[in-house]
This record gives sequence, C-alpha cells and structure tokens, in this order.
Amino acid sequence: SKQNGRNGYAFYFDELHTDTKRVLLLDTELRKAIDQRDFTLHFQPKIDAKNLQLIGVEALVRWQNDKLGFVSPAEFIPYAEETGLIIPLSEMIFELACESHKQLVDAGYTKVPIAINVSSIHFQQQNFLESIQHILERNNASAVNFEIEMTERTVMNSASETVSKLVKLKQMGFKLSIDDFGTGYSSLSYLVRFPLDILKIDRSFIQHICSLDDKQAVVDAIIQMSHRLKMKVVAEGVESAQQVELLKEMGCDYIQGYYYSKPLPINELIDFIQFWEVEHQG
Ligand code: C2E
Ligand code: CA
Ligand code: CA
Ligand code: CA
Repeated sequence: SKQNGRNGYAFYFDELHTDTKRVLLLDTELRKAIDQRDFTLHFQPKIDAKNLQLIGVEALVRWQNDKLGFVSPAEFIPYAEETGLIIPLSEMIFELACESHKQLVDAGYTKVPIAINVSSIHFQQQNFLESIQHILERNNASAVNFEIEMTERTVMNSASETVSKLVKLKQMGFKLSIDDFGTGYSSLSYLVRFPLDILKIDRSFIQHICSLDDKQAVVDAIIQMSHRLKMKVVAEGVESAQQVELLKEMGCDYIQGYYYSKPLPINELIDFIQFWEVEHQG
C-alpha cells in the first residue's frame, strides 16, 4: 500500500487528524463528566462454584457521553491515568460503590460485598488510605463490605510502602484481590509477602481451557498454588458450561463471567439476586 502514494498518505493523515480530534474531545468531555459525576457503575456477580451461592459482585464503571457515545473503561481509564484525572474519578467510583451498597442493603441484601478496581496511580498517592477512609466515613460505610482489586503492577511498585499500605487496608477490613493474574510480572514473590485474600485468573487463561491442554495445566497449577497460600481463586471471563465444569473439577472457588451474568445496573442486579436466591437456596 506504499504504492498508493498520495492516497495512502492522505488516508494516514486523515486518520491521525481524527485521532487527535478524538483525544481532545475525550479530554474535554472527561473533565466535564468528572465535574458533573456523569458515571454509573455496573455490577457483575461472582458465583461460588460448589454451592452456586452469589458471593459478591465486581463494580465496573460506565460512561455514556452525548458526543462520544459509549466510551469503554478500557479507553478512558488509561487516559485518566496518564492525565491524573484518575484520582477524582477513582474517588467518585468509591463513592458510587458506597451508595450502591446502601441500595443493596435497603433491598435486603446485606451480605453482597462489592469489589472495586483500584488504579495503581490512585493506590500510590501519598494520601490514598486517608482518602478512602474519608469516603467511608462520609458515607457511613464499612470496609468489610468491600474488596479491593489491584493488578500485579500495583503491588510490584515501590514495594516497601506497598506492604504497609496493604496491611493497613486489611486492618480497616477490606479484602484484597489480585486482578488479571498471569498477565503482568513473572516474579511471584509478592504472593508470599503480601496479605492477599483472592487471586483472579485472567480471562486469557480461561478462554481456551477446554481445547488447550497447556492452558488447563497452567490454570490447574495456579489454583493449587493459591490454595497452598490460603487464597481463594476466581476465574474471570467464564462463558460456557464446559468451562464451569472443568474449573469445578480443578477446585476453582468462584466463577465470574457472561455465562452467569453480564455486568448489570444496580436495579437489574437486585432483580438478578432475588431471582438467583429463589433458584439456588443454600
Ligand atoms: P477487569 O477489571 O479485568 O474487568 C473485567 C472485564 O471483563 C470487564 O470489562 C467485564 O465487563 C469483562 N467481562 C466480564 N465477563 C466477561 C466474559 O465472560 N467475557 C468477556 N469477553 N468479557 C467479560 P470492562 O467493564 O469493559 O472493563 C475493562 C477494564 O477496565 C477492567 O478490566 C478494568 O481494568 C478497567 N475498569 C473497569 N471499571 C473500572 C473502575 O471502576 N476502576 C478502574 N480503575 N478500572 C476499571
Ligand atoms: Ca477487575
Ligand atoms: Ca480482571
Ligand atoms: Ca483485565
């Protein structure tokens, strides 16, 4: 396509131009949306593989914008991290999660912990613990109803401070999860050093477990290792009954994925829980 000469160049130029315009628009609209609290949370259920009880939900941020349409968090979260906008955004997400938890309690569901994705940029802020404490107090909420999901990147950075932050979060009552396990660093030493409760196996390992023997071997090994380290295991991105069967056989504790439910707005989540509890009385 270098042969295309002017056309190829013109195309490239147009695309670049469109990209720049989109980034500028994203920047303006994101700042506006943060000011106006223009985000919602959706919640994806996590199901106990053994007894099918709903054991909690993961909060996933959603942004619908007039000019940009639906913008995926996979696009705006990294941008917010680059620009520092992640700090007010992340605090707002915490705030929204507290409000949603209250709605769950009002609907009669007092034992549905909400897992919140915490960006490494937010976690590394000097006043991270204070800011979280503050939000909990302001909302009259308790840390025991929440779980913090962090990636390997978060716990690998500036290690000495990290340990003390994690210990303090545990003391406050939070459960701690490692998200996207297997996609980040190769060193596993942090699993021993840090007080982690839950390990979430990334979807990329789950996707082919039914057809690829080596993926199966890796998932099996991760589950055994986690249990030896006294951690529970969540399989992410589970989409089929065969995957559920296989994961159950391997002793996986919890299942999350489209097979059971997509992430749902709070009112639909409440309907889902109600339906689920009737279907699967414990
Ligand atoms: P993540 O934390 O690994 O979240 C799981 C993603 O997989 C979600 O995408 C979820 O909708 C999707 N998913 C769940 N089950 C399935 C499945 O069975 N199949 C497939 N194909 N996908 C499934 P989502 O909501 O688009 O979020 C993408 C990423 O954006 C998240 O990955 C997380 O890294 C980030 N993110 C989302 N919400 C937040 C948030 O509130 N705060 C922060 N810091 N990051 C967030
Ligand atoms: Ca997550
Ligand atoms: Ca994940
Ligand atoms: Ca991910």
